[in-house]
Amino acid sequence: MSSITVVGSVNRDLVLTVQDLPRPGETVLAERFVEGVGGKGANQAVAAARLGSRVRLVARVGADAETILRALAAEGVDVTEVLPAADASTGIASVVVDRAGENTIVVNPGANAALTVADLPEHLSGAGEVLLVQHEIAPEVVAAAVLRARELGGTVVLNPAPARPVASDVLAAVDVLVPNLGELATLLDVAPPTGPDGARDLLEKAELPCGAVVVTLGADGALVKQPGRPAVHLPAPAVDAVDTVGAGDTFCGALADSLARGGDLLSAAERAVRAASLAVTGLGAQSSMPTAAQLDSPAA
Ligand code: ATP
Repeated sequence: MSSITVVGSVNRDLVLTVQDLPRPGETVLAERFVEGVGGKGANQAVAAARLGSRVRLVARVGADAETILRALAAEGVDVTEVLPAADASTGIASVVVDRAGENTIVVNPGANAALTVADLPEHLSGAGEVLLVQHEIAPEVVAAAVLRARELGGTVVLNPAPARPVASDVLAAVDVLVPNLGELATLLDVAPPTGPDGARDLLEKAELPCGAVVVTLGADGALVKQPGRPAVHLPAPAVDAVDTVGAGDTFCGALADSLARGGDLLSAAERAVRAASLAVTGLGAQSSMPTAAQLDSPAA
C-alpha cells in the first residue's frame, strides 16, 4: 500500500516566459515557451515521489494524457487510480512568468472537474499513511476524501489552494492545514495579513477547528502553529528566485514525504521550506523539484 495518496488535479502546463507581465488589454511577446506536466495534485505527487515516498495519485484526465501519464509514472508515481474522463480534455494551466519570477495563471479544470466521490478508492489512507488534497477538484470530493481518510486513521494534509472556504466538519478532520497568506485569510474571512508577524497574530487569535496550521510565506519561509504551542517561524534560505510556480506544491509534497516517514511536524516543515526554496531557483514547476540527495547534500 502506498504511504502517500494524493487526490487532486492533473494539468497540461503551458508556460510562457515574458519580460513583464501583460497589463489588462496588452499583448506581449513571449521570450520562451515550455509545455509540461502540472496541476497541484500531480505536482505534489511528483515532489513527494522525488524525495523517495511511495505515492499514489487519484485523479481524472482526458484521452489526450498519455504522455502526461508516462511522465508521472517515470517519476515513480502510481497512476493506476488516474481515470479517463469520457467527455473532457485534460486540465490546462496557462502560466505567464516575468523576469522577476512573478506569475499569473489561468486554469481550465477540464477532466479535473469530472473527478467524483465515487472515484475515490475504498482504502484511501490508513494509519501511518498520509492523504494529501488540494482545491483544484470539486469541494464534495475534497470533503469525502478528507472525512474518509480521517475515519481510516490516515494523517490528513489539506492545501486549500486555490482559496475557497472549507466546511468546519471537513476542517475538523484535517491534521495539517497548509495555506498561504491569502488562503488563510479566505478561510478566516478576514483581510490577508502581511509577513510572519501578521500570520502569527492571526493564528494566535484564529479559531480553526483543524489540527496544526503551516502557513507558507514565500521568501519569508513558513510559520508553524500547533495546538497549545506558540507559533514557530521557519525562515527560508536566501536564494536567487527564478520562478516561484510550484513552490507551494513542492512544499506540500516535501511536508507529506517527511510526515509519511514518521517525522515530527516542525522538522517536516523545516525540510519543506528548504525543498521549496531550492525549487524556486529553476524554471518550471516539476523540473526544479529537488531529489532527496539534492535536498540533503551539505550545499543545499
Ligand atoms: P505558488 O502558488 O506559487 O506555488 P504559494 O503561494 O503556494 O506558491 P509560497 O508561500 O509562495 O507558496 O511559497 C512556498 C514556499 O516556497 C515557501 O514557504 C518557501 O519555502 C519557498 N519560497 C517561495 N518563494 C521563495 C523565495 N523568493 N525565496 C526563497 N524561498 C521561497
